[in-house]
Amino acid sequence: MNLWQQYLRPRSLTEALQVLHSAPSPVRVIAGGTDLMLDLKQGRLPPVHTLVDLTGISEMNVIEIRGKELFIGAATPLSQIATSPLVEEHARALTEACGLIAGPQVRNVATLGGNVAHALPAADGTIALTALGTQALIVDLNGRRRLPLAELFLGPGETALKVGQELLEGFYLPLCSTGQASAFNRVMRVQGIALPILNLAIWLERKNGNISQIHISAGPSGPTPRRFPKTEEALCRQPFTSEFCERALVIMLDEVHFRASPHRASSEYRQHLAAVLLQDTLKTVWQRAR
Ligand SMILES: Cc1cc2nc3c(=O)[nH]c(=O)nc-3n(C[C@H](O)[C@H](O)[C@H](O)COP(=O)(O)OP(=O)(O)OC[C@H]3O[C@@H](n4cnc5c(N)ncnc54)[C@H](O)[C@@H]3O)c2cc1C
Repeated sequence: MNLWQQYLRPRSLTEALQVLHSAPSPVRVIAGGTDLMLDLKQGRLPPVHTLVDLTGISEMNVIEIRGKELFIGAATPLSQIATSPLVEEHARALTEACGLIAGPQVRNVATLGGNVAHALPAADGTIALTALGTQALIVDLNGRRRLPLAELFLGPGETALKVGQELLEGFYLPLCSTGQASAFNRVMRVQGIALPILNLAIWLERKNGNISQIHISAGPSGPTPRRFPKTEEALCRQPFTSEFCERALVIMLDEVHFRASPHRASSEYRQHLAAVLLQDTLKTVWQRAR
């Protein structure tokens, strides 16, 4: 059985949106295809009539400063993001996450937009973007809208995007100012095998010797990528110390339910890893923010 009938390669965003609107349905966008092809071949998604390939659209493959924000196009391959000096300067957690995803062959084709739109609770790029205070730029034939990233996710594999109508055009991230820094860390079995056992990303601001603002996200820690507001609040207005970090961990374990997974880890093991990742990553970001 054919998994699709028609494969289209629009050259502009406008053309892509028109094609999405007019092509016989079911219609779906494809970028690197590293998730979508498996979903189609393994029957998690039914066959589609039309695939619309976004990788030839140059407006969606950019990394640039726009005003006071860093913009990353949704069709930018992960390898480009992992080696971009702009991303390293303003969103180090994303550099680190994209550099750890899969192996080089996958990173050369897989895109950040695909990583987000696939909506898995532990997707590495998505977890980094969540801690970095990212807004998604969504576009359809009627215009554009911005959405805080966490609001995009409705459940595992489910987003607020109208499939076949709306696209992720890209992501806006705040620029990194003095005293601010971020880091990403994860534990995995073997590099190259999809998804981590646990990952964790932190963005923080250091002022007058204390943590003045902090964002923490980790995955998988629930049905959708998310932050931990109670843990963040507990860490604010304090300097980083190991003892203090241990107290924050107690709050984090109360706030998060780490699920057991038959293929990856028990929930107890994930709790153990959360302690290690929180301590290590917090120490790294604290030092970077100096
Ligand atoms: C061997 C292997 C190892 C991997 N390891 C990891 C890992 O360690 N960590 C990790 O996080 N992931 C991993 N992955 C998963 C994968 O590479 C990523 O999720 C990838 O970033 C998806 O991007 P893509 O461009 O390939 O998306 P695609 O497969 O093309 O698309 C995925 C989904 O997103 C939709 N989509 C794509 N772009 C857009 C857009 N701009 N707007 C709206 N919808 C869109 C598609 O319709 C589809 O539903 C691995 C995959 C493989 C095959």
